[in-house]
Amino acid sequence: MLSSESKSKIEPKTEAEKLKESLFMEKKNGASRLTGAQIKAADDFCEGYKAFLDNAKTEREATSYAVEMAKKAGFSKFEADKTYKPGDKIYYVNKKKSVIVAIIGKEGVKNGAQIAVAHIDSPRLDIKPNPLYEASDLAMLKTHYYGGIKKYQWTAMPLALHGKIVKKDGTSVGVRIGEDKDDPVFCVTDLLPHLAKEQVAKPLHKAIDAENLNILVGSRPFKSEKGAELVKLNIMKILNDKYGVVESDFLSAELEMVPAFKAKDVGLDRSMVGAYGHDDRVCAYPSLMAVLDYKGVPKNTVMTVLADKEETGSDGNTGMKSAFFMYFVADLAKMDKVDYKHVLMKSQCLSADVNAAFDPAYSAVYDPANSCYINNGVVITKYTGSGGKFGTSDASAEFMGYVRNFLEKNKVLWQTGELGKVDIGGGGTIAKYIANLGVDVVDLGVPVLSMHAPFEVVSKIDVFMAYKAITAFFDTDIE
Ligand code: MN
Ligand code: MN
Repeated sequence: MLSSESKSKIEPKTEAEKLKESLFMEKKNGASRLTGAQIKAADDFCEGYKAFLDNAKTEREATSYAVEMAKKAGFSKFEADKTYKPGDKIYYVNKKKSVIVAIIGKEGVKNGAQIAVAHIDSPRLDIKPNPLYEASDLAMLKTHYYGGIKKYQWTAMPLALHGKIVKKDGTSVGVRIGEDKDDPVFCVTDLLPHLAKEQVAKPLHKAIDAENLNILVGSRPFKSEKGAELVKLNIMKILNDKYGVVESDFLSAELEMVPAFKAKDVGLDRSMVGAYGHDDRVCAYPSLMAVLDYKGVPKNTVMTVLADKEETGSDGNTGMKSAFFMYFVADLAKMDKVDYKHVLMKSQCLSADVNAAFDPAYSAVYDPANSCYINNGVVITKYTGSGGKFGTSDASAEFMGYVRNFLEKNKVLWQTGELGKVDIGGGGTIAKYIANLGVDVVDLGVPVLSMHAPFEVVSKIDVFMAYKAITAFFDTDIE
């Protein structure tokens, strides 16, 4: 029997094989096409990403962490009445929960801007405005979940408390408990299997009641001869000693429960990163780094927008449906003595958001030919939506062609993907809100396994390719 090597020497390619090579799409196998140095670069890039994940578990934290990074990279706070010159590096913080980082181009925004947008909020459990109660000698906090979660995934695992409390006197305190190694953590209790016969027979979405997603925060009573609610009192006293807060201060607080664990390498080959909040920090970090690392002066102004509220529909003054982004563009347009409407119409945007990586365990929900795969690079999602492309901007053939071209030119590993089979479900991103302003936009991001779970998984190569893709986008001038 011939070895494959000697066989290939003997047998020339058939006409059909040659034709297939020129006409068919290349079979995906991204990782094997990269050099050792490229893989090393991806691994190194993800070390910074892991630090970002651990320090930016909420939109507030992501905003302040991004601002610190921007300052270190020589960016300064944007002032609307100032005139900026090409090459100037600025950041604009919107209400502490969203931020725009930009470099002024040689032509400013006269011929449009190049915009990367990612979101920095993630599904979690928010603490209710009046949360603290005592039941059967346990102190608990009531929650209202934020974004699309599978409730059972949030029980019986360590959670950390993050957020901010504004006190009656107007002063405020930042809260972050459960992240340092000596910190206590919190959890939602779950029913033992022995007594869960009825629970496990329920449909998954009914097995855990949202009103039962309560956080265990204490069990020891305040020492007293008599009196009720002494466990609650003890917890309130601890909070008062630590932060100077009283129960009514919960009313003016934003407190969030997030997984307490840190980002970790996944796999014996360390090829992946597992963490809370990849959706959408895995696009936020590469988008941010692409603008911070930008070399030279771009022709068109480039900017990265890190937005809040995507997971709840982008409403509110920190989400992408808000006018803050448009106002910022308008400020830049005014500086260049052009109408912001024309700027938006000429602008381009990568809506940097994740897509669902093909999961062999759940292959039935994916169309294999139109799914994205771990390690095959950044994924372009032409349209999202559901029920017959409902609620999507659907990028034009022209813009798809444009994006494909600069990805190829810059040797970025890329693939396309839809979010699952037609009519199996669906979802959306911020792309349509930007598109509604007249901007050319397409979704581009990282494939994620276990999306929206407390522990999501991504490939290091794909994270790095997102960075390369956004860098290539910024490097390609608008024609
Ligand atoms: Mn997302
Ligand atoms: Mn999401």
